[in-house]
Amino acid sequence: MDYSKFFSAALNRLHDERRYRVFADLERIAGRFPHAVWHSPKGQRNVVIWCSNDYLGMGQHPKVVGAMVETATRVGTGAGGTRNIAGTHHPLVQLEAELADLHGKEASLLFTSGYVSNQTGIATLAKLIPNCLILSDALNHNSMIEGVRQAGCDRQIFRHSDMAHLEELLIAAGPDRPKLIACESLYSMDGDIAPLARICDLAEKYGAMTYVDEVHAVGMYGPRGGGIAERDGVMHRIDVLEGTLAKAFGCLGGYIAGKADNIDAVRSYAPGFIFTTALPPAICSAATAAIRHLKTSNWERERHQDRAARVKAILNAAGLPVMSSETHIVPLFVGDPENCKKASDILLEEHGIYIQPINYPTVAKGTERLRITPSPYHDDGLIDHLAEALLQVWERLGLPLKRKSLAAE
Ligand SMILES: *Cc1c(COP(=O)(O)O)cnc(C)c1O
Repeated sequence: MDYSKFFSAALNRLHDERRYRVFADLERIAGRFPHAVWHSPKGQRNVVIWCSNDYLGMGQHPKVVGAMVETATRVGTGAGGTRNIAGTHHPLVQLEAELADLHGKEASLLFTSGYVSNQTGIATLAKLIPNCLILSDALNHNSMIEGVRQAGCDRQIFRHSDMAHLEELLIAAGPDRPKLIACESLYSMDGDIAPLARICDLAEKYGAMTYVDEVHAVGMYGPRGGGIAERDGVMHRIDVLEGTLAKAFGCLGGYIAGKADNIDAVRSYAPGFIFTTALPPAICSAATAAIRHLKTSNWERERHQDRAARVKAILNAAGLPVMSSETHIVPLFVGDPENCKKASDILLEEHGIYIQPINYPTVAKGTERLRITPSPYHDDGLIDHLAEALLQVWERLGLPLKRKSLAAE
C-alpha cells in the first residue's frame, strides 16, 4: 500500500484551492520590534512585521526578557514533569495568583497554551455539569469548538453576537436545564466586540453559566489590562474567563480564572492539564513580569490604540478596503485566496512588509483578507510606507479600492 499518496493528494487539494500555506522564516530582533530578518530563499533581508499577535511588543520588553533569563539561570529550563508529578514550581504558583488578581477571581489555572485551556477547560467544565447544554457563538475559535465537541453534551450555536437568538435558545432550553454560554470578548478576524453586559443579563435571567475567551483582549483593554470584561465593568459577572500569555503578554501558555471550586475541579479532572508537562518556570516569570507591568502602565495600551486608529485613517484615506473594526485589528478585504496570497508575497518580496494572508478555514470563503495588527512600535514612517506599498499592490493585482458594501457593514 502506498500511504504517501493519501498525503500528497491531501496537499494537492490545498494547492488546487489556492490555500496551501507557506511560512516565512523570520528572526525577530529584540529591541527593534517590529523589525526582523527574513531568511528568504535569496538570503537574509530586513522586513517589518505587520501581523504579529505580540500586540504590544511585550515579547521583547526588557523587564520580560530579564525575568525569563534570570529565572532560567536560577532554576533551569524545563518544569521536569506534569503538575501532579514534579512540575509545580514557585513561578507557576506566583503567576496563577497574578492572573486571579488580574481578573478579580478567587483562583486561576495554567495550561500549556490558550488552545489547550479552551479545549480541555470547556470540555471538563461541561462534563461535570449533568445534562449540560452548551450555547456557543457561531464565530468561536477552533479551540472552543473542540472543547465543546469533546464535552460530548448537547450544543446549540447562536448567530454571532445575536442576543435575540441567544435568548430564544435559552428560553427553549427551559429554566431547569443547566446551560453554559461560551463566547469570545473580542473576535480577532473582524475586530468586533461581544456585548458582554447583555450576555451577562441573559445568563442571569435564564440561569446560565458563562465562559468567555479574552485571548485578544487581555493586556490591551481595561484599566489594568483585565480585558473587555474589565473595561465594561462585568468581570465579576462572568463565571470563567480564559486568556493567553502568548499574545499581548508576549510569552506562552493559557489559563482560566474563576471561583476556587470551579478551577479546582478542572485541575482535578482535566486530561489536558493532568497528563502534560507544566510550563517552564522561566516562561511563567516572564509572563508575570508582563502582566505586572501592564497592570500599571497605560502607555502601551494608549499608544496601541493610537497606532491602530492612525493605520485605519491612513489606509481609508488612500481608498483601501479597510473592513470596519472597533478595535486594534485592521482587516483589509481581498475576497479571494489567490490574490490574498499574491498580495502577501509581493508585500514581502518587494516591500519588506510581512503580512500573512488569512484564508479559509480561518475565515469564510470569499472573505479572505490581510489582517494588519499595528503595535505601539509602528511609527508614522512605517505606516506611510505600508499605505504606499498596499496601493501599489492593489493596482498591480487590479483589486478594487473602496468597496461601498463593506464600508456600510
Ligand atoms: C490564539 C487563540 C487561542 C489560542 O491561544 P494560544 O495561546 O495561542 O494557544 C484561543 N482563542 C482565541 C480566540 C485565539 O485567537
